[in-house]
Amino acid sequence: MKEAMFWHPERNGIRCDLCLRKCFLTEGKKGYCGIRVVKSKKLYNIHFSKILKPEIINIEKSHIFHFLPDTKTVLIQSKGNNLPKPVFSEPIDEKKLVEYEPEKIIELAKKNGVKSIVYSFEEPMMYVETVYRIAKLAYREGLKNVLITNAFVETDVIKNLSKYFNGVLINVFASLNEKIYSDDLEILDVEKLKKSIVYFRKQRFFIEIANHVAFYEGYKEDHKAFAEWIVENLGASIPYHLINLRDMDIFEGKYYPLVPTDLISLYDDAHFAGLRYVYVDDLEEYQSTHCYNCKTPVIEREGLKVTKMNVIGGRCPNCRSKIELVE
Ligand code: SF4
Repeated sequence: MKEAMFWHPERNGIRCDLCLRKCFLTEGKKGYCGIRVVKSKKLYNIHFSKILKPEIINIEKSHIFHFLPDTKTVLIQSKGNNLPKPVFSEPIDEKKLVEYEPEKIIELAKKNGVKSIVYSFEEPMMYVETVYRIAKLAYREGLKNVLITNAFVETDVIKNLSKYFNGVLINVFASLNEKIYSDDLEILDVEKLKKSIVYFRKQRFFIEIANHVAFYEGYKEDHKAFAEWIVENLGASIPYHLINLRDMDIFEGKYYPLVPTDLISLYDDAHFAGLRYVYVDDLEEYQSTHCYNCKTPVIEREGLKVTKMNVIGGRCPNCRSKIELVE
């Protein structure tokens, strides 16, 4: 247990300033995320330094395609979620968390020729104290830090992390449909969430977006509007992943997975909106990177594995157009 970052005393309790839920908590109470608690008039993170045993994976396995492609990363995961449902990941078993010193993680990274650390599920912003501690040391040791987040956090937190972080994969559900966010994810202000997403850009994070799509009335229109919003607010070169609903039970059968032809239609719509790099998670032939200008394959993948890198000095080998990625 460690004193939490991002809170202030307010009236007879404490206001948590970490995520946009802005929980007001009195003595002994836990926040919505379940891992921040008030004790003796201070806010604490109850799982500080506790994570799942770190895994070494190919970075593509995290759906990060343009950040250090075809390299290994250390995957960090811990408990804590500010969403009511495990939309983007499986829930983590608290009993499997172990104390892990940052030095040991860096040692593991170096031993395995790893170039980055990815902070992932359940929601890394909820265990920000642990993330911050590891990321600071990793940064000093020349490793890159990448977040996978739902972005439902205060902009101050993003600013603070930007010192040590280089990249972010932002997970959204149903193209940020306001009613679905309100009814199913208990997020009433999608505009604030959008501001936080844009703020990552302002703080110079390299951004990729993963839209977890599903079938419901109006999903196509929502998706078109979302793709246009990305182009307008984040830029056409943001890598964009379409990930099909993996578990209908999460939403008690309210939404369904899309069939392949529908996913391909969304892929076409995203391109039509102007997005240059679009991927469909379920469909192998939609996972390679092509030059947006001449369509030459520049990174070929089979599933979530790179099979051929064909980028020369950050450019297409055929027409010399710049391919937006971090090498
Ligand atoms: S981080 Fe947790 S305690 Fe803080 S506002 Fe968000 S849900 Fe509430």
